[in-house]
Amino acid sequence: MKVLVINCGSSSLKYRLIETDTKTVICKGLCERIGIGGGHFKYEVTGSDKGFEKDVEFPDHNTAVDTLIKAVTDPDSGVVGDVSEIGAVGHRIVHGGDKFTEAAYITPEVMSVIEECSDLAPLHNPANIQGIKSCRKVMPDTAMVGVFDTAFHQTLPEEAYLYGIPYEYYEKYGIRKFGFHGMSHEYVSKETAAIMGKDIKDVKTIICHLGNGASITAVDGGRSVDTSMGYTPLDGIIMGTRCGSLDPEIVHALVEKTGKGLDEVMRILNFDSGVYGLSDYKSSDMRDIRDAYKAGDKAAIRAFDTYIYVIVKYIGAYMAVLGGADAITFTAGIGENSSSVRKHICDRLKGLGVVLDDGANENGHGARLISAESSKVRVYTIPTDEEMSIALSTVEVLDRMNKG
Ligand code: AMP
Repeated sequence: MKVLVINCGSSSLKYRLIETDTKTVICKGLCERIGIGGGHFKYEVTGSDKGFEKDVEFPDHNTAVDTLIKAVTDPDSGVVGDVSEIGAVGHRIVHGGDKFTEAAYITPEVMSVIEECSDLAPLHNPANIQGIKSCRKVMPDTAMVGVFDTAFHQTLPEEAYLYGIPYEYYEKYGIRKFGFHGMSHEYVSKETAAIMGKDIKDVKTIICHLGNGASITAVDGGRSVDTSMGYTPLDGIIMGTRCGSLDPEIVHALVEKTGKGLDEVMRILNFDSGVYGLSDYKSSDMRDIRDAYKAGDKAAIRAFDTYIYVIVKYIGAYMAVLGGADAITFTAGIGENSSSVRKHICDRLKGLGVVLDDGANENGHGARLISAESSKVRVYTIPTDEEMSIALSTVEVLDRMNKG
């Protein structure tokens, strides 16, 4: 089936048309600067020079969806004869709260629940909802499925999702760990089992999604049992610009000591912290930090070492949670590309039976084993593919409905 995957932000819309039978991308692109003027449209066709990019004004998301559908169905540049050839649209939805344990066919009732979850992701869910509404306008007869960043983590046991605060706040306000990057953790844990030649039910894995945003998940038999991001994506390991876990009293202390308001302090924790803040605002990009580290830059060394340390701590904790892991898998921008980050992490895990194969870690690309034969825990690097995960989940939902 041809599935159009839509990842809609407040001023951008990423899309990808995927043939799920062959797991191939037919075309992909981006609508930028929606609603703010100076819009730009990108359209790339796999294995062809039919693609193009151009400046287009996008006064709203409807125009963006209209533009991409015109490109995809155009007699010259198009990849389908008619919009009816697109079997379904899979929408990325950031927050499904505790309402969605899996992807869902979008009915008016489901839309209302997604709207209810907007409180939990006020920057993301409203944009995702807008994406659904715009696609509905342009493709009223096409099946729509919502795939949630949080759904994969709905298997977390109570002991993992509760915080040590009065229980009434969980009951009244739903304050709990949700976890994010679910599509990536789900996809990569399945790929890990596949590369190991094992049934996912028999594998315990620790998935390290290390990108600009980053999270680590303990997956037992295909089920997420703990994950580093929490109520929001600010929690967990140190990220590009996000602080990760910290003592909540620090927020209070920063407000008092800096004289800045609470909103400004929260902005700093989201956008000026992490590797960026620790490196004296040098960069949030791991490539820059590595270059500066190699040149002996003290701030970069501090940022890099702290980043590695926190990841090692989480992996150690998740090994304990799982009662030992069969595999650790690195994915996303840093996890897939930085052999140096992987080496620094794995070298510190030697005491837990992790032995890296330096040659395999340094050389080669794509999904591969990078641990030595003597390693008690296998280590892999596997490219994540959130869009493919969304497309496959979309087909699963439709198949279930057809069977049910
Ligand atoms: P993502 O959020 O998954 O797109 O990852 C983005 C991050 O990946 C960037 O901020 C970079 O820090 C990192 N990255 C990409 N390529 C490399 C590389 N070759 N070496 C180290 N880090 C990389």
